[in-house]
Amino acid sequence: MDAKAPITHDVLTIPRKLPEGPQNLIGLSRDQMRDALIAAGTKEKQAKMRVGQIWQWIYHWGVRDFSEMTNLAKDYRAMLAETFVIELPQVVTRQVSEDGTRKYLVRIAGGHEVEVVYIPETDRGTLCISSQVGCTLTCSFCHTGTQKLVRNLTAAEIVGQVMVARDDLGEWPVPGAPKDETRLLSNIVLMGMGEPLYNFENVRDAMKIAMDPEGISLSRRRITLSTSGVVPEIARTAQEIGCQLAISFHATTDDVRDRLVPINKRWPIADLLDVLREYPKVSNSERITFEYVMLDGVNDSDEDAHRLVKLIDGIPAKINLIPFNEWPGAPYKRSSNNRIRKFADIIYHAGYASPIRKPRGEDIMAACGQLKSATERSRKSKAQIAQEAGL
Ligand code: SAH
Ligand code: SF4
Repeated sequence: MDAKAPITHDVLTIPRKLPEGPQNLIGLSRDQMRDALIAAGTKEKQAKMRVGQIWQWIYHWGVRDFSEMTNLAKDYRAMLAETFVIELPQVVTRQVSEDGTRKYLVRIAGGHEVEVVYIPETDRGTLCISSQVGCTLTCSFCHTGTQKLVRNLTAAEIVGQVMVARDDLGEWPVPGAPKDETRLLSNIVLMGMGEPLYNFENVRDAMKIAMDPEGISLSRRRITLSTSGVVPEIARTAQEIGCQLAISFHATTDDVRDRLVPINKRWPIADLLDVLREYPKVSNSERITFEYVMLDGVNDSDEDAHRLVKLIDGIPAKINLIPFNEWPGAPYKRSSNNRIRKFADIIYHAGYASPIRKPRGEDIMAACGQLKSATERSRKSKAQIAQEAGL
């Protein structure tokens, strides 16, 4: 085999409705649920109302058993139980870090596994969810990128991660209890395993469900989608999801970005910046987050900081500096704290917020870019990782 041949991975897409067995109601849009109820014998005139009722039970109250849907007639509940299921990913392991971060390994159809991370803060909490098993892209500093096995998650499996976290946090409302506006799970970031814009429809449908005001009801401002830069799908993200956007930028020249984020060979920095200049206008989002991983001696010089500021000129932005999180066999080192601070200062003095992301859950390998299912069978060799990094 040619050593330079790109590593390709097949992405499997699991159909929503499996050929046999009951259909899962989780992950269906309101329209899809309506169609499914009509196909199961619900009168067309009543279907919309039934969707409203079932939707509230599932997504507002967190009910998983049709028999508890007490505003539906008994025989209707029995019909639902025969035809449908309410099925979530199964939590296989749950680890809690010294700093309170929780990492769940969840199993989905086909025995695949993905990781989900909950990061508590004083007045809020962020859930970092996955959009694919592994990732077809091969960013050389990312642990997930070394995983060969890849499949897209379904909408059910994506919103299901939010639901299992709410289960674990005990955060479904209790009937009659006073409404508590502070939420343990108040924000979602699509920063787990996978490239969300390579699984656009399922990510969109899942986030629509999470935003629906009669269910989980998270504002679009509290959802951030992170992409390595799939240029053609960025405008669609603004139009069809409207959430906040984070870009894995990581380098200030095409030469370095080609090595760190290989998708840059397809959509180089100039193309990416062109589409970003349009983004806030379309989605009304205030600022785009530029994520920048700090790699010792690779992308962390003063010149890089100055170039970065010049490149993003005119884009409402904040720059999130991520100290590199090491993983076994990683071909890079984290920049020193002094270097990171110096870099941050240059950006800050140019007028941009430049927070340094505090690594969370490092002791349980839950920090950014460390995720990778422990059970996956095949992995790239160190030599392959180094070769792709151009080392
Ligand atoms: N695929 C998407 C989202 C998942 S990665 C994307 O690339 O944007 C979430 C963030 O973690 C990205 O900015 C990614 O570049 C960063 N990241 C990956 N590996 C990392 C590591 N080892 N240390 C620090 N950040 C990392
Ligand atoms: Fe995939 Fe994002 Fe990791 Fe790159 S950084 S390999 S796009 S998950």
